[in-house]
Amino acid sequence: MNGRRRALGQHFLRDVGIARAIVDVVAPTKSDLVVEIGPGQGALTGELARRAGRVIALEVDRALAADLRARIRDVEIIDADARTWDYGLLSAPPGGRVLVVGNLPYSVAKPILMSLVSARRAIDEMALMLQREVAERLAAPPGGKTYGSLSVLTQLYCDVRLALRVPPGAFRPPPQVESAVVHLRVLSGPRVQVADERRFHAIVRAAFAQRRKTLANALAGGLGLATDRVRHGLEAAGIDPGRRAETLTIHEFAEVVARLS
Ligand code: SAM
Repeated sequence: MNGRRRALGQHFLRDVGIARAIVDVVAPTKSDLVVEIGPGQGALTGELARRAGRVIALEVDRALAADLRARIRDVEIIDADARTWDYGLLSAPPGGRVLVVGNLPYSVAKPILMSLVSARRAIDEMALMLQREVAERLAAPPGGKTYGSLSVLTQLYCDVRLALRVPPGAFRPPPQVESAVVHLRVLSGPRVQVADERRFHAIVRAAFAQRRKTLANALAGGLGLATDRVRHGLEAAGIDPGRRAETLTIHEFAEVVARLS
């Protein structure tokens, strides 16, 4: 595998059964618009085109995009970087949904995911294949090592479920990591009311940036606040300042934000 292909995460799915199972996660119908991220050689694209009303595919590798355009006629294949493409422009067809499906390039999966979550108002559901560890972090409940800012900031806006695991042997060439597909269903509004979403993001990031410290120390250090002020804010929110970030639910984070804003 050459360096460019590795940098673009070009591990192509070879298992037709798994391709179908990924598409089944969001079960497109003729009423739906699907955006596929990184169609590559088209492992998912044909199945999506067969089932959805309209398919737009974003591929950064111009040679692969041209090749696919010549093979699949009824898909709009766009030369685009999925990290920066404007998903906010999408709108659902009458009576249909906007779905995002993709076997993501793992090296840029997080910025793509952040971009999708930012554009959540334009999206209904997503089925995304990710490195298994990242998929587990997205879906993690509070209380364990996999629960972190990625879990909280995604679950604030989406229901997240691990839909299926995919072994390296399903791809050519096989990646060195295991993969999993997550199903994200965008909520109609944030899971908890937060007056200031930016502040929520900043506080969650600061809490997990030093996750082995107590919440009071991690927040004081990360936000540049006096430890006493943070401790009082946490106590007013009914949260023991000695707890660690990984034990807090999203609702508790919202309480913390309300007291520290
Ligand atoms: N969907 C195909 C499959 O399952 O076989 C290919 C998946 S492969 C893991 C990732 C694909 O994303 C490659 O085709 C790669 O060229 C493309 N890609 C990499 N970075 C991208 C980016 N920033 N924007 C859009 N596509 C990208």
